[in-house]
Amino acid sequence: MRGSRSRLWNAFAASKRLHEHVATAEAELPEVEQEVDPLLERAKRRRRNLRRRLIAYGTIVGLIVGFYYYQPQRYHFFADKPPKPNPRIDPDSAKLFSKGVKIALIQAHPDDSEYFLAPLLLRLKASGAEIHQLVMTDGDKSFYFWKKEDAAENRRVREAEQMEAASHYAVDVTFLHKPDGRLEYQGDNADQVHAYLEKVQPDYVLCFDPTYWGKVNHADHLASGRAAVNALRSPGGVPSVKWVLFFSTVGTNFTPDVSNTIDQGIEMLAIHKSQFYGERLQRIKDGRLDAYYNAGEAANEGYGVALRAVRIEKLTAKG
Ligand SMILES: [Zn+2]
Repeated sequence: MRGSRSRLWNAFAASKRLHEHVATAEAELPEVEQEVDPLLERAKRRRRNLRRRLIAYGTIVGLIVGFYYYQPQRYHFFADKPPKPNPRIDPDSAKLFSKGVKIALIQAHPDDSEYFLAPLLLRLKASGAEIHQLVMTDGDKSFYFWKKEDAAENRRVREAEQMEAASHYAVDVTFLHKPDGRLEYQGDNADQVHAYLEKVQPDYVLCFDPTYWGKVNHADHLASGRAAVNALRSPGGVPSVKWVLFFSTVGTNFTPDVSNTIDQGIEMLAIHKSQFYGERLQRIKDGRLDAYYNAGEAANEGYGVALRAVRIEKLTAKG
């Protein structure tokens, strides 16, 4: 009996203490609220600021990415490594440098042929090759909206320059008139290149390497090379083609000697007066001469053009 009374007393005492605690807490509540409210307000402000900052950063990153894909240069932080294994190959040189061999040269801009290949094109012409040239864009530069380029005038001048250069080696020149700087966004590149190759029926295709390139390249260059690879790999392909010779490559496995045509080839850069003039012309001439010298030296010969030759049966989706 005693035990249960004392338990009751204890419970009563505990409940009384609890009531006292609650009463004290209630009395202190306004004070606590005064302390907590500013904290809540600050947390809310912080959250608002964070959201604003995220939107601002997101917009900036979006603009940078958008601009990267708008402007036409493409960058690799690390240049592509050459394919492995990458043995030197002779893409039937006896045929390549013979009378009547048909070559389709596919390029993105007027001047690409002179910048990357002129000495080789002259050697091919001298050995009797029939070079058919396809220029995919007009080089009108209209996408450089901040430079206020006169697209129509650029088109006229650059086509005329290309026709003059081509008169030294090509049997004909075809322009696809696709927009300069925007080639990679044209959906019918491969179809148009395929139709062109079907018409020309070449033995060899010369085009930009869309896969093994250095640290910087023009998106149009890559797109024109990709269009050629896709055209050749489309159903039915182009049966006349036996070899693809990629230029502007870091996967060199074939370096034809161009010692006999190097001087005339370098001089041809000057035909593209609208692009290469004054000091810039000299700088580019020097740079190209070095490139042909280095390519030749790597292949133990005089001046050379670095190419990646791929037998058509070995052409993969990558190139
Ligand atoms: Zn170009």
